[in-house]
Amino acid sequence: MTLLAHAAEDPADSRTYLLNNGTAQRYHRALTESVDRVSATIAGTTRPFTGISVDGLTPTVAAVDLDAPLHDAAAALDELEEVYLRDAVYFHHPRYLAHLNCPVVIPALVGEAVLTAVNSSLDTWDQSAGGTLIERRLIDWTAGRIGLGASADGIFTSGGSQSNLQAMLLARDEACRRELAREGTPSDARLTDVLPRLRILTSECSHFSIRKAATLLGMGAEAVLTVPADDHKRMRADALADELARCRRDGLIPMAVVATAGTTDFGSIDPLPETAELCARYGAWMHVDAAYGCGLLVSRRRHLLDGIERADSVTVDYHKSFFQPVSSSAFLVRDRTTLRHVTYHADYLNPRRMAEQRIPNQVDKSIQTTRRFDALKLWLTLRIMGARAVGELFDEVIDRAADAWKLLHDDPRFDVVVEPSLSTLVFRYVPAGDADPELADRVNLHAREALFASGDAIVAGTKVDGRHYLKFTLLNPETTLEDIATVLDLIAEHAGTFLAAQPRPALSAH
Ligand SMILES: *Cc1c(COP(=O)(O)O)cnc(C)c1O
Repeated sequence: MTLLAHAAEDPADSRTYLLNNGTAQRYHRALTESVDRVSATIAGTTRPFTGISVDGLTPTVAAVDLDAPLHDAAAALDELEEVYLRDAVYFHHPRYLAHLNCPVVIPALVGEAVLTAVNSSLDTWDQSAGGTLIERRLIDWTAGRIGLGASADGIFTSGGSQSNLQAMLLARDEACRRELAREGTPSDARLTDVLPRLRILTSECSHFSIRKAATLLGMGAEAVLTVPADDHKRMRADALADELARCRRDGLIPMAVVATAGTTDFGSIDPLPETAELCARYGAWMHVDAAYGCGLLVSRRRHLLDGIERADSVTVDYHKSFFQPVSSSAFLVRDRTTLRHVTYHADYLNPRRMAEQRIPNQVDKSIQTTRRFDALKLWLTLRIMGARAVGELFDEVIDRAADAWKLLHDDPRFDVVVEPSLSTLVFRYVPAGDADPELADRVNLHAREALFASGDAIVAGTKVDGRHYLKFTLLNPETTLEDIATVLDLIAEHAGTFLAAQPRPALSAH
């Protein structure tokens, strides 16, 4: 036997693993096998989670010998059942109520399968062709829905955090450019002279990625000024006005105001028209973080985003409220020329002459280089089910949250923070009688952990005014009010068990 013939028959022959015209059948078989497994797992999930602990699962993963390959997809999938699939957290389950993770729509999964196999890279036209054009159409479509105008542009990103970082980067560089060009600025002034005076204003309920961005951009987290929120957890426009005036008085430069359209905890939407007015008055970049609230763009509640069309930039996370798999996210700008702050030309990739020849190289607008064709998922979603159907799903969970709020509001066992404008509910179990808040904290922490360990349901937790609360994030239209009532009963049950074990006899459960 020649060496070559032997290699071709050897299952370990590395080349048989490459996807090409000779192995397309093998690819088909392997993928079908994996899809069969996943669909069986999804069909069979009875709980969002098995409740396994870190210590329980760690040895199983550690026992896998990464230097002893199985040479067999079926065997590897059997093993994967043990190390991952059996104990994964399933967002499609109606009692997964924790974070901003949505059940995913099937058209997007079709897109995912296609984009991974073709493996286009969206940094340049010569690595993607139609992929680039599809992404650009979706950016234009989204900008159109927002109402950003004819000069708008943008780019798909890895997520809201990256979009927010890019927003702050453009805002910073625009502010520096303007400041250095201002009359009276010494001609030898540099960017680093301006940097310490830059400030970002955002509400106390905004996402932590804004602070992280300020740090990454060399401004420090202290460059972020926190604006108080009102009783509905919306940024107070009067407080924002005061803070902007104070910046001006102190010789600081309010480079950006970040309004959140759908805060992570409360779903609250900051006053967008008032924010736009103030940004115009102070020359501040208006960024709207609609990572969560972007689903409103296709819902019958579009009016909740009125004012977003005046933003300089917008973050949208399709992987939150468009029912898309992670990652699917975009960053939009009103004025496409501002994207030049991330444009660098490399001879090997996107030389300047290509821009002159109007060859569309998306890397010119991105802080990533090699980049997935995530846009294809949204494309197939719009082409198969349509935007209205996506909006209906989001509207349904918002309706459900409104009903659940009534349920919680009327339930003496719980205290609920604000009436939701989107689909989250922040609440806490209150022990009967005049319990001290420390104990209530411990009860709620316990209830959340016990519920997680049971695997019956998953809820999130957060803090309000320093106290521990629980949170439902509803993104699954399959979650019924009955599911929610059941989970509340489970929480009360775990809380009751915890209280019963307390040494202080005066306290009782409801
Ligand atoms: C989730 C979220 C982010 C971060 O988005 P990722 O996609 O997780 O990076 C930013 N802002 C808000 C308001 C969010 O809810």
